[in-house]
Amino acid sequence: MSEKFDAIVVGAGPSGNAAAYILAKAGLKVLQLERGEYAGSKNVQGAILYADALEKMIPDFRDDAPLERHIIEQRMWVLDDDSFIGTHYRSDGFNKEPYNRYTIIRAQFDKWFSAKVQAAGALVICETTVTDLLRDEGNRVVGVQVDREGGTIYADVVILADGVNSLLAKKAEFHPELEPKNVALAVKEIHFMPQEILQERFNIGEEEGVVIEMFGKITQGMMGTGFLYTNKESIAVGVGCMLSDFKEQKTTPYALLEEMKNHPSIKPLLAGGEMKEYTAHLIPEGGYKAIPRIYGDGWMIVGDSGMFVNAVHREGSNLAMTTGRIAAETVIDLVKEGKAMTAANLAVYRSRLDDSFVMKDLKKYQEMPEIFHSNRQFFTTYPELVNRSAHTMLHVDGVDKKTKEREIFSSFREKRSLFGLMGDAYKLWRAFR
Ligand SMILES: Cc1cc2nc3c(=O)[nH]c(=O)nc-3n(C[C@H](O)[C@H](O)[C@H](O)COP(=O)(O)OP(=O)(O)OC[C@H]3O[C@@H](n4cnc5c(N)ncnc54)[C@H](O)[C@@H]3O)c2cc1C
Repeated sequence: MSEKFDAIVVGAGPSGNAAAYILAKAGLKVLQLERGEYAGSKNVQGAILYADALEKMIPDFRDDAPLERHIIEQRMWVLDDDSFIGTHYRSDGFNKEPYNRYTIIRAQFDKWFSAKVQAAGALVICETTVTDLLRDEGNRVVGVQVDREGGTIYADVVILADGVNSLLAKKAEFHPELEPKNVALAVKEIHFMPQEILQERFNIGEEEGVVIEMFGKITQGMMGTGFLYTNKESIAVGVGCMLSDFKEQKTTPYALLEEMKNHPSIKPLLAGGEMKEYTAHLIPEGGYKAIPRIYGDGWMIVGDSGMFVNAVHREGSNLAMTTGRIAAETVIDLVKEGKAMTAANLAVYRSRLDDSFVMKDLKKYQEMPEIFHSNRQFFTTYPELVNRSAHTMLHVDGVDKKTKEREIFSSFREKRSLFGLMGDAYKLWRAFR
């Protein structure tokens, strides 16, 4: 191959599919390369799909996309060793069409999205790995090298949508090696069970779903969270912690998930299920401050490759699709204006992202990774204290409530001191402001 394209998109996850779809729909000559057997074959996600990002590109996606359940209830649990305290938010508003969030199975969803990309006119080639970027004498990216004979392909712009590892961006020195403190390692299992049992267990109807987000002692003092999502006839359960913490603590992700599944509040939800799938994947969670340079002469970076994950709200695929779409729209506008794909012209991509929810949200939580890295009490001491406080207040034993309140207050002071408590409150404010 030595054909020339308007754009080459590397990767067929949500960011690559979004970019390729928008470019092809605008009539550009697009080549999308995916190393997996098919789009989605190598991808791992919880997985919650946020409709908004997809709707902006494919408004009628609900007609044929493989969707599992729409979410009507969100639970947030703070776990101690044998209890949890939490909030449940369930709304009939979430039960009115058009639904806003769905559970999906990524292998099926990515395949569906890829079919849309092909129908829009892009040439999609799977089982093909991009091994290098081609540059001209001026160091401008002018194409890619793939692992096929004679695999040199040229394009005006190359969009790197190759996920968290982004070996290509590292090789090209667009961004440095991923630091273990900026990346979480997540493991996930899928447990199958009859639909009726699942629905009864979570008090939901045929299409309805429940999401449980968890943090606290399930991560054994490491910075991370757990999750449990309901699919049509299966439950996705998983946990992820920073890679640097796994290294330091010498705990294996698998052992962590095993313990989490045996927690007395989680075990009954999985009872009787048959585990059929186990996967592990990295999630870029370094936040705003860890975002690398995302454009240059002849190249752009979208999705996980650019660290576009909002770990606080567990949003990744929607940021991936949005960055993919905005990158493509930038290219389309430059083509219309007859401008070259230079760094100066592609800078519009960054400024458009700055104006979008993607950068605004990541910027809002920019202090969060650092604060949680160095304050493990938020994953250990506080979950324990709030759970114990709830237990003390709810346990009826003849002790008056005033005495119980004093007992709770002194347990907080004993663990963190008044100064420590005030400092932690300030840190939380800084992390979430
Ligand atoms: C356990 C877990 C749970 C998650 N839960 C959620 C959730 O519930 N909701 C949510 O929105 N996000 C979630 N995320 C995050 C979400 O999965 C990612 O943000 C999203 O997949 C990023 O999309 P992407 O297209 O940038 O990268 P990816 O989906 O990783 O796709 C990259 C693609 O590029 C291909 N590729 C890589 N290198 C090459 C190469 N050299 N040549 C050719 N092809 C290549 C890969 O095979 C892959 O198909 C979760 C992540 C994990 C790990």
